[in-house]
Amino acid sequence: MPYKKLKSTDDAIMQIVDGYRHFHEEVYPQQEELFKKLAFEQTPKAMFITCADSRVVPELITQSSPGDLFVTRNVGNVVPPYGQMLGGVSTAIEYAVVALGVKHIIICGHSDCGAMKAVLNPEQLRNMPTVRSWLQHSEVAKIVVEENCKCDGHRDTLGVLTEENVVAQLGHLATHPSVASRLARGDLFIHGWVYDIETSQIRAYDTEKGEFRRIGDGPLPMATPKPRY
Ligand code: ZN
Repeated sequence: MPYKKLKSTDDAIMQIVDGYRHFHEEVYPQQEELFKKLAFEQTPKAMFITCADSRVVPELITQSSPGDLFVTRNVGNVVPPYGQMLGGVSTAIEYAVVALGVKHIIICGHSDCGAMKAVLNPEQLRNMPTVRSWLQHSEVAKIVVEENCKCDGHRDTLGVLTEENVVAQLGHLATHPSVASRLARGDLFIHGWVYDIETSQIRAYDTEKGEFRRIGDGPLPMATPKPRY
């Protein structure tokens, strides 16, 4: 498919600039006090690791304000195991846990995830060697599903894989020394969520019961292991 040549004032970028103008002129003045308070420090309530997908908006779906969430996003909400890749995700985790002292880390997958579809159908990644290499961190979830799930149809398989990928990334998260140490003494809580774009529902992983349940009614399902100190 030939690429469409863009005009210098392309509509999409002008919509973004108009959005900024609205923010600067209308939204900012209403919350000026908050921004002045945030100008020189942040004390986020949680770290939020999710997919880069444009339809997942952490602040919107949790109704959070600036300063509330320390967000890291990448294709497939992947957390590489410690030591394999000293990249942006590992750096952000260490900074959030050690420097900012966050009490909660949420890993949030989502429905209709392109990364998860690619894990199921790797031939889609022929021209994307970097994505293919990155998604090796999700391979474990694929094998768990292939060998254990009696999935019925593509949609079902994709849903189960998306959940298993969150479980796998929670496992990787716990290999990071800064995380492992605070989990061992019980002052860090980790959460594995899957957000459904179509219905807005979030399901969370319960480590004890080994299942995902809807959040919002009843006690929050938790992925945090038992502390030892
Ligand atoms: Zn995704």
